[in-house]
Amino acid sequence: MQCGVKVSEIRNQKPQKLLPLRHPARSRHDEACPQTGPKAHNPKYDRIFEISTTVMEAVISLTDIRKSYFLGKQELPVLKGIDLKIARNEYVALMGPSGSGKSTLMNILGCLDTPTKGQYILNGKDVSRMEDDELADVRNTEIGFVFQQFNLLPRLTAWENVALPLIYAGAGKAEREERAKAMLEKVGLADRSHHKPNELSGGQSQRVAIARALINNPSLLLADEPTGNLDTKTSVEIMDLFSKIHDQGNTVVLVTHEEDIANFTRRIVRIRDGVVESDLLTSQQPAIKEKSSHGI
Ligand code: ADP
Ligand code: MG
Repeated sequence: MQCGVKVSEIRNQKPQKLLPLRHPARSRHDEACPQTGPKAHNPKYDRIFEISTTVMEAVISLTDIRKSYFLGKQELPVLKGIDLKIARNEYVALMGPSGSGKSTLMNILGCLDTPTKGQYILNGKDVSRMEDDELADVRNTEIGFVFQQFNLLPRLTAWENVALPLIYAGAGKAEREERAKAMLEKVGLADRSHHKPNELSGGQSQRVAIARALINNPSLLLADEPTGNLDTKTSVEIMDLFSKIHDQGNTVVLVTHEEDIANFTRRIVRIRDGVVESDLLTSQQPAIKEKSSHGI
């Protein structure tokens, strides 16, 4: 559904709507300007300030991102120059035909892979040229990732799965158990904390995966087709949960090929032939919505 307004149009008219600019430091720039002194207005210094603030406010800033896979000597270009900015607390759906590069892009956003060319600034840090161990640190502290297949460890209970990222963060067992159980409660699964994945439904498994993604309080929650393995009713419940997570101030980016799912979000970015085809704000009203009982 092509509802809404082009994000680039909004940006051109009122950039502060999507990237709110705060101006507490403006006087500092004026003071730092030897020609004009503290009171006089120097647009050049404002411009520098606005650029730096815009970069700071953007959680994701992609410039000309390219990714090719190599099959022998043959190059398969998948992403062919993606430019995209996502600000703090945005709620974005990435859409596009199968094979258009959505997962490739999500893996780059989630620091699971690096681009062949281009720049990726995540929360002010250039992650596009980082080595593997630096990327692993960024993944642990900045990113929660939810997968279509849930990717839970079958031998661990729900709370142990949720607590896994806390082991890498160096938390002790008592703290891990307490925090994991509190997070499971938030996603409506307090009574399933000792169950193993094979004792959980698809929707419950995805809630565990979402709790695991949130446990380190990441600055970015990414989900690649999170409802792809779920029936319609369960998909609505999971999207309701993502909406609540977004309402609490989180930045959420998800991939879906279903319009009904994308319409839960606030902005739809469509990828085709390796570039951004369109970038629209949604009407912000989900097409289907059922009330859920969980407490996040
Ligand atoms: P989508 O998620 O939009 O369906 P993908 O990002 O998974 O698309 O894949 C985009 C293209 O890149 C497809 O043609 C796919 O076959 C190819 N591709 C994905 N991963 C690899 C890989 N590791 N090696 C080679 N080709 C790949
Ligand atoms: Mg995919």
